[in-house]
Amino acid sequence: MVKEYNSSSNHLQPDEGRSFLEMDDKRIILAVYAHPDDGEFLAGGTLAKWVKEGHQIYVICSTNGNLGTKDITIAKEKLADTRKEELVEAMKVIGGNPPIFLGYDDGFLRENIKDLKEMLVYWFRKLKPDWIVTFDPWKTYEIHPDHIEVGRMASEAAVFSCFPLLYPEHMEKGLEPHQPEELWYMTPMEHKPNRLVDIASTFEKKIEAILCHQSQVEMLADMFIAGADPTNLTDEQKAQLQEGTKTLMQMASQALAALSEGKVELAEAFYAIKVGAGHFDNYQEMLQEMIGLDTDPLIIM
Ligand SMILES: [Zn+2]
Repeated sequence: MVKEYNSSSNHLQPDEGRSFLEMDDKRIILAVYAHPDDGEFLAGGTLAKWVKEGHQIYVICSTNGNLGTKDITIAKEKLADTRKEELVEAMKVIGGNPPIFLGYDDGFLRENIKDLKEMLVYWFRKLKPDWIVTFDPWKTYEIHPDHIEVGRMASEAAVFSCFPLLYPEHMEKGLEPHQPEELWYMTPMEHKPNRLVDIASTFEKKIEAILCHQSQVEMLADMFIAGADPTNLTDEQKAQLQEGTKTLMQMASQALAALSEGKVELAEAFYAIKVGAGHFDNYQEMLQEMIGLDTDPLIIM
């Protein structure tokens, strides 16, 4: 469908993007994360916007987040409970369905990829999502193994969940093969984004949802407040964190919005890729890219 667009400008207006994507159709959109706070920073404004537009939003959180602290006195079980509750609250702010937790240990998705793949295929067949939002497993300088593996297994599950001979026991449980239409990689860095979502109307919700992850915002305190000790924050520093979070997210959203050349002010960016049976359905785009044609337009939605 990309070939239908032959604009001298590489940018589509928001309305054009909407009709191109038939956004009047209600979609089922499933975000697949490694950790409870992954989505709010990178896609929270987009998910909240899609809720407002009437789409069904689901979130799968693969790990229990039980490494996410710098405080050695916290029990791992207590941290996992806290982080689970934080994502439940964040999803209430965003307006999506209650999150689904797979419960793998934080930091150990690589050791569990076989299970994780089957679990994701199972949930893709159960929820029948049209789009999957996840990490780009090929993102340069991504070092966290959970981010890499969740992106890789979600991508594999997206292209394999249509094959009935894969995990046929799912069919015995009443599920059917299912193939999502598209994968959306959050904040791609080495590939130019082809979807830019205007989040001006949901930016406040994004911040509110991020602040639900208080344990993580506090852990990252030294990113927001110079010299802060995340394990020993003063009340004043905790208050400063809220403003600091908003300022940092504002800067990031403005930087991504610059891709629109002034059309939007606050944005989240994605690289969306069509899904086929056992492969990505992007051969035409890859060929065009390989021979130097810039024909994949940035769709602003
Ligand atoms: Zn993470």
